[in-house]
Amino acid sequence: MKCPQCSHSDTRVIDSRELEDGSMTRRRRECTGCSSRFTTYERHEVAGLVVVKKDGRREAYSRDKLARGVKKAVEKRLLSNDSVEALITSIEHHIHEIGKSEVKSTTIGEEVLHALRTLDPVAYIRFASVYLGFETLEAMKAEVDDLLSSDEPGEYVPAVSNGHVTDNTPVDGFC
Ligand SMILES: [Zn+2]
Repeated sequence: MKCPQCSHSDTRVIDSRELEDGSMTRRRRECTGCSSRFTTYERHEVAGLVVVKKDGRREAYSRDKLARGVKKAVEKRLLSNDSVEALITSIEHHIHEIGKSEVKSTTIGEEVLHALRTLDPVAYIRFASVYLGFETLEAMKAEVDDLLSSDEPGEYVPAVSNGHVTDNTPVDGFC
């Protein structure tokens, strides 16, 4: 990144901070030539990402499509829209970190599973039943048993207790 003042090509980052929901990073840079300071913003580039499906077909990544799948799994689960959007953003963040222009649909599916498992085990099982396509009740039961006996049950707290809807603000700092 060239210095806007003197076009020197070497700058150093003096401060870096995440903005919004972590989907953008703001950096303060200092030119090593003239010492002038300027700001750059780094944002996820998910536009242009290509998803490679199981059968090898390719299609443009669509946040809407991912959101539909996730929202179907969390339907009636009393998760706030914000927490669902944050979950999708965190999935996009992980996909972005892989740093490739193509990503397998299975990779996205695994990211969703990983995120839902902590956020909401019931939504996780719903998504898994579609995504993993449990062929038998035993296979699904094995997955549920595994969840129930997991060493890391997550910080999920049922949103409904004693018939009252309680605050279901998602896990603090979830990302
Ligand atoms: Zn400069």
